Amino acid sequence: MTDQYAVIGNPIGHTKSPLIHMSFAGETGQDITYTAIEGPLGGFAAAVDAFRAGGGRGLNITAPFKLDAFAYATDLRERARLAGAVNAMKFEDGPEGGPEGGRVIADNFDGVGLVNDIQRNLDSPLAGKRVLLLGAGGAARGAILPILEQKPAELVIANRTLSKAQALESQFSGHGRLSGTDYAALTGGRSGRFDVVLNATSASLRGELPPVDTAAFAADGLAYELVYGKGLTPFLRLAQGVGVRRLADGVGMLVEQAAEAFAWWRGIRPDTRPVIERLTIPLV
Ligand code: NDP
Repeated sequence: MTDQYAVIGNPIGHTKSPLIHMSFAGETGQDITYTAIEGPLGGFAAAVDAFRAGGGRGLNITAPFKLDAFAYATDLRERARLAGAVNAMKFEDGPEGGPEGGRVIADNFDGVGLVNDIQRNLDSPLAGKRVLLLGAGGAARGAILPILEQKPAELVIANRTLSKAQALESQFSGHGRLSGTDYAALTGGRSGRFDVVLNATSASLRGELPPVDTAAFAADGLAYELVYGKGLTPFLRLAQGVGVRRLADGVGMLVEQAAEAFAWWRGIRPDTRPVIERLTIPLV
């Protein structure tokens, strides 16, 4: 039987995941289906139970269900545990051959997808670079460990609510050189320039700009917006205005995390470049 996969979220109409995974399946010769499920708010577990009962082998999880998926899993892999959120699950059969009593293994590939895409955009490793991460929500938390694993010179997390950035600093202090701060600490170049500035706030969804000082950007660095499909956001415009040459949005991150999940499910890693090129909208 053809193995079934899906992405679950709400709303889900805009999702590019079926297109991405079916492209991967075509390229690697895998016999799968991949659909989109609009999970009812408050009804995540029932929707996943129904998908498994119908033979579902794995799911991607998007907003607002990443914490529900964390609670649903029976086995959390390290990255999901540290991120406090799940974006992919794999279902194993129970003793009777169906989902009953079967393990639900959960991971989070958002951070590793982001790191892969940053390095693709930089054309060089993150090792030794100064990295500034704006935001301290779910996306930022999931990115911290994968970034630190690349051994950057330093990771600074800046957030509007200082206490959340400080909490992340203490949670991850054993994993590398990082500090949590607020935007004021970046003004006038007091924290120096950063090779990579990542906007992991949700400000761009509302056309807003996180209050980052332009002195934080380096002209030969990378300004990366996690939101995708919105063209030049206020953050990317700001970076462009001060001469930052490399600008990127989060479409590559989306494709890269999908490739990680696909490889985990199917045991074969697809080539991401053609799909990223197909989905990239020029930043103008
Ligand atoms: P959360 O709601 O968990 O966190 C939001 C963060 O944004 C908080 O740190 C908040 O600060 C900050 N923030 C919101 N508005 C402003 C503002 N006007 N100025 C400064 N800071 C602001 O969101 P997520 O972490 O889940 O998602 C963040 C973004 O990442 C989303 O826009 C999402 O689209 C994108 N994303 C992209 C992915 C991809 O594959 N490309 C995958 C996952 C996420 P405070 O704590 O002070 O409230």
